[in-house]
Amino acid sequence: RESLLQEIKETIEKKSVELLHMQFVDIEGTLKHVTITAEQLQQAVDGKVMFDGSSITGFTPINQSDLYLNPDLSTFAVLPWTEEEGYSEARFLCSVTTPDGNDFEGDPRNVLKKTVKRAADKGYSISVGPELEFFLFETDEYGQPTIRTQDVGGYFEPSPKDEGEKVRLAIYKALKMMGFTIEASHHEVAIGQHEINFKYADALASADAATTYKWVVKTVAKQFGLHATFMPKPLAGANGSGMHTNISLFNNEKQENAFYDESDKLGLSESAYQFIAGLIENVKDFVAVTNPLVNSYKRLVPGYEAPCYIAWSASNRSALIRIPATRGAGTRVEIRCPDPSANPYLAFAVVASAGLDGVERELSAPPSVDADIFHMSLDEIEARGIENLPTNLEQAVDRFETGEIGLKTFGEHAFSEYIALKRGEWDDFRTTVTGWEVEAYQSKF
Ligand code: GLU
Ligand code: MG
Ligand code: MG
Repeated sequence: RESLLQEIKETIEKKSVELLHMQFVDIEGTLKHVTITAEQLQQAVDGKVMFDGSSITGFTPINQSDLYLNPDLSTFAVLPWTEEEGYSEARFLCSVTTPDGNDFEGDPRNVLKKTVKRAADKGYSISVGPELEFFLFETDEYGQPTIRTQDVGGYFEPSPKDEGEKVRLAIYKALKMMGFTIEASHHEVAIGQHEINFKYADALASADAATTYKWVVKTVAKQFGLHATFMPKPLAGANGSGMHTNISLFNNEKQENAFYDESDKLGLSESAYQFIAGLIENVKDFVAVTNPLVNSYKRLVPGYEAPCYIAWSASNRSALIRIPATRGAGTRVEIRCPDPSANPYLAFAVVASAGLDGVERELSAPPSVDADIFHMSLDEIEARGIENLPTNLEQAVDRFETGEIGLKTFGEHAFSEYIALKRGEWDDFRTTVTGWEVEAYQSKF
């Protein structure tokens, strides 16, 4: 920690960093920050920056509102778009602590840390590699987002059809300067839809990266007069945006990927099968977290490469869980339901927690489903015992509330705050008269 701090001080000096943004996320994963001057570094590092938790969604009641920020030094990054001659700004991602110096239970970063610790107690680290898709929309004369996409490109199409190439290049450069290792970048299936992939890391670092990525994508897009959105299904009739989550366990003692076993016919270990079984067993109880919006469930419909049936497969993209072809150190499972509107800390926590549950209980995985489920008859789906994911937010929250994974992973505080928030959101939607209803019913009845 001391040498890291020394390095940070040198960078602050060299890059003339004047302002430091102390960042954290609320329960929805929305990034927040309070800005201090670089002279306050020591105070910040000592965890002395205070804020009002009662103004943060899902945090504290007004009578216990003082909370503190505890910066994670490994997340220090200079913000490329602030750099000019003799001036720049930097940020830290922080965990939240209570006035008595304990981890604040309602902080999503702390929730994930607890799951990481649970895995560590069993001898594992959790590796996560998320793939976040997003759309770029044009803005109007007031800078407000429209529903006009900025290009007509499709999957892997280069410019001139892909107008987003310039924007993606700028995003790539910014992320790289902030320490990301970028692996790929491409136009996605829908018009105006894009994806940039970064290297997997341990669960906490990946949740930090996903949070940073969303912020950088939005910030850079804005410089081009565009609005980037991680809303899961912005356009009816087109592919939505997923946050496929690649996850594996690493055996700390043997120093190897715990999911790989070359003697197995699929190259998967016992714990990999148990982990898959845990995901399948618990998925209905955690989709309220990985798919948190009313709109999330409009993506989980047949025909758009997003899952709606609970099954796993070594190849099939219609399945909820896919095992990408890589073996050896890269062996992993890819769960395809999460979408990028999810809070990455909470999403990775529930996914890891569900998989660990399978390992702890030594569950066995159901047979894999290698045929395209979207082309199966309903009879066949039923005969194979393939179940549906919840089809709306209300069903998902009901399962989250009654299931075991939610409370176990979130702890009392975040659990009840999350349910209250999501129930409110559903109620709002339920009592709104939508354009669809007016169009379908007004003249007819
Ligand atoms: N956009 C698709 C989804 O909603 C995924 C496409 C892909 O396989 O990358 O999950
Ligand atoms: Mg994709
Ligand atoms: Mg994928």
